[in-house]
Amino acid sequence: MTHTSYIELSEKAVQNNIEFIQKMLGDDVTFSSVVKGNAYGHGIHPYCTLAYASGVRHFSVSDANEAYEVLKTLPHQDVTIMIMGMIDTSQLAWAIENGIEFYVFEKDRLQRANEEAQKLKKQAKIHIEIETGMNRTGFEPKELSTVLQYIEKNTSHLKVQGICSHLAGAESISNYKRVTDQQKKFTGVLKKIGNQKPMVTKAHLASSAATIRYPKTRLDLVRIGILQFGFFPTQEILVHYLSKHKLVASPLQRVISWKTQIMDIRTVKAGQFIGYGTSYFTNHVTKIAIIPVGYSSGYNRSLSNRGKVLIRGKRFDVIGTINMNMMAVDVTHAEQVEKGDEVVLIGQQGEQEITVSSFNDAIQIINYELLTKLPENLPRIITK
Ligand SMILES: *Cc1c(COP(=O)(O)O)cnc(C)c1O
Repeated sequence: MTHTSYIELSEKAVQNNIEFIQKMLGDDVTFSSVVKGNAYGHGIHPYCTLAYASGVRHFSVSDANEAYEVLKTLPHQDVTIMIMGMIDTSQLAWAIENGIEFYVFEKDRLQRANEEAQKLKKQAKIHIEIETGMNRTGFEPKELSTVLQYIEKNTSHLKVQGICSHLAGAESISNYKRVTDQQKKFTGVLKKIGNQKPMVTKAHLASSAATIRYPKTRLDLVRIGILQFGFFPTQEILVHYLSKHKLVASPLQRVISWKTQIMDIRTVKAGQFIGYGTSYFTNHVTKIAIIPVGYSSGYNRSLSNRGKVLIRGKRFDVIGTINMNMMAVDVTHAEQVEKGDEVVLIGQQGEQEITVSSFNDAIQIINYELLTKLPENLPRIITK
């Protein structure tokens, strides 16, 4: 082991989750695998390799750098890559040259895309983003006719691959009104451009939550992130899915595990503080294992005195504050532990499991945040 901790990706779990998604969508809806945020912390390179092997051919990212990572990983001619967010003017030529699709969400992006495509004597493949109520990015529906006129005049350099919008919180019923209003607005826009449909190949609106909670929003393509990694967007969406399908357990499997090892073991007398400050005081003789992972590796500092880890198939408490690169675990009651023993931070060991959602319960962060904070430089290892 050359790094202080490493991440494992389960090939079997990826296959299971992608099969679940493909089956749910059927043949008429394209599945775009959202791999922004370094594939939700799983690593663009290893994750895209596995997804590709499971048949995925459409990938969505947030910016041009991520698109570059996907392009480097997979055979060019075989996959579609779509940038849903930021693309700088300086990156447009590269995207157009490589057939990378991207959102246009305001006039400047549209005109610049056209200019760059002209220079390259190529077509820019664009998705027109519509603002339907999230109030983030996109053209207002009333701007659409001018946008379409502009595109019609420049069809040799602009090719519309899609028309799209994003829902502001389909994962919670508390947003029901807002989300269904957005859906209506988007349907209205699609109706309006109905007769120009050949120009627009795909309409898309749904992410994981909407795909499950509002199946009508699936349209031609869905942009699914979190489900493919084995998580429902929220507990609420999971419960909705289970009750609708009369199931008791999630059909998805966690892809990621996060592991490290014990770097040192020591015994501390009663009446001592452990680590920085005074947050943990030993009431009895305490045996502690030092683990070489801290908040700089993505182990949230709020887990001080709260985290749990697995060693030799048993669960132990993190004690004291999480340091930048280390933390202490109370192993007083372990029958046997040794320096070098495997420590599971996320994942299974023997009969025990540390789930990602156990972190949410402890410190009120969402799966998405915990995962994307896993550093890019941790090794990712693919397991069966
Ligand atoms: C992140 C993102 C998605 C995917 O969201 P999940 O909840 O992970 O499925 C879809 N669309 C857009 C625009 C996104 O930014």
